[in-house]
Amino acid sequence: MGNGEKNFNVQGNERLIGSSDTMIRGVLDLLKGNVERSMQKSMIVLGHGDPTSFPGFRTTQDAEEAVLEALKSAQYNCYAPPAGLPSARRAVAEYLSRDVPYELSSTDVHITSGCSHAIEIILKVLARPGVNILLPKPGFPYYEAIAEFNQIEVRHYDLISERGWEINLDQVEALADDNTAAIVVINPGNPSGSVYSYQHLERVAVIAKLLGIPIIADEVYDHLTFGSNPFVRMGVFASLAPVFTLGSISKRWLAPGWRVGWLAICDPAGNFQGNTIDNCIKGCLNIVSGPATFIQGAIPQILENTRKEFFSDINAKLKECAEIAYDKIKEIPLLTCPLKPEGSMFLMVRLNLDLFEDVTDDLDFCLKLAREESLLVLPGFVVGMKNWIRITFAAGLSTLEDGIGRMKSFCMRHSLAAAR
Ligand SMILES: *Cc1c(COP(=O)(O)O)cnc(C)c1O
Repeated sequence: MGNGEKNFNVQGNERLIGSSDTMIRGVLDLLKGNVERSMQKSMIVLGHGDPTSFPGFRTTQDAEEAVLEALKSAQYNCYAPPAGLPSARRAVAEYLSRDVPYELSSTDVHITSGCSHAIEIILKVLARPGVNILLPKPGFPYYEAIAEFNQIEVRHYDLISERGWEINLDQVEALADDNTAAIVVINPGNPSGSVYSYQHLERVAVIAKLLGIPIIADEVYDHLTFGSNPFVRMGVFASLAPVFTLGSISKRWLAPGWRVGWLAICDPAGNFQGNTIDNCIKGCLNIVSGPATFIQGAIPQILENTRKEFFSDINAKLKECAEIAYDKIKEIPLLTCPLKPEGSMFLMVRLNLDLFEDVTDDLDFCLKLAREESLLVLPGFVVGMKNWIRITFAAGLSTLEDGIGRMKSFCMRHSLAAAR
């Protein structure tokens, strides 16, 4: 230096630092680092919701062909409009309208790069100074990270494990105030595996109406249900309180890498008329970039022409996996699983820490499990539940059985002598 040149003193945005340490991927990477390289056992990952590496969980050929055709047609090499291709918006509007008692129009739908992108957009749109948002606990940590980055205050309401992980509605009422921008409802539930009844969802809408807050309905696991409650869209109750419906093809079509999702406004009563929401969404879409045009071009085919058997086959597989996981976990006295999953790809398990000899908390459990058994599951603190773990049951059957078997040996090895 000394010749008048300056240092490149460029600093990054501090609000971005540290978030990965508490996000699902960051924590799984930490656990991976703990797996003994010398182990004979192959690594089993039951930590995240992407079963596409298992042979039974490949997307449908119909969808693959739709993408190939769209690509080869050379009609989709262009930029798409900010809100998405009109044909894709229309197809999503029709897809969502199948489940609600009114018709969505294509202008109610915005095409996004997966459901994550829809979360990012709607939270950006709502992030006025001083606002807060009601998020479920346990929940999906992406919401906390995006809210924090946009300086939205997070207020957690509990899901009640003893009541099938239903929403604590009294608490919702107590938490909301004039600055509450929205309540997020994830159904079918990640991480709980719950599927809410018609009546429960109606109660949520009634409370939202009373409080005057819109509902953000994360329905990324739409129709992935296999228990007693059928899937009901929150949008069914949108005449009570307006609903932002978020979804994607990532989970139901087993194509998370294709990055297509949507953000739809369900507001049949016109509660948003005359306010700025629609313009703010448009404005937001102008400063972000959506999914590749040829994938959007394939959306009408994918949504309209996927054979029913594909869906019923996936749901049957998930049900079988859920039952095996639940039954095998029930045999382990050190663990408690309060709900046999009825939807999504996850179940929550409580660690009965007083029965363990040398496990201090959920992270300690997961680190030791990774080291000793080459098995990765998610420590509950990541989803807001300390001393619980989240297990993905969407996996190959033999992998799943092997995985839970390893967890059992681990638990027995670390149990107090009295509990053995
Ligand atoms: C997987 C998931 C998402 C993200 O979906 P993408 O379409 O892959 O972006 C959003 N919300 C929940 C609850 C999820 O489990």
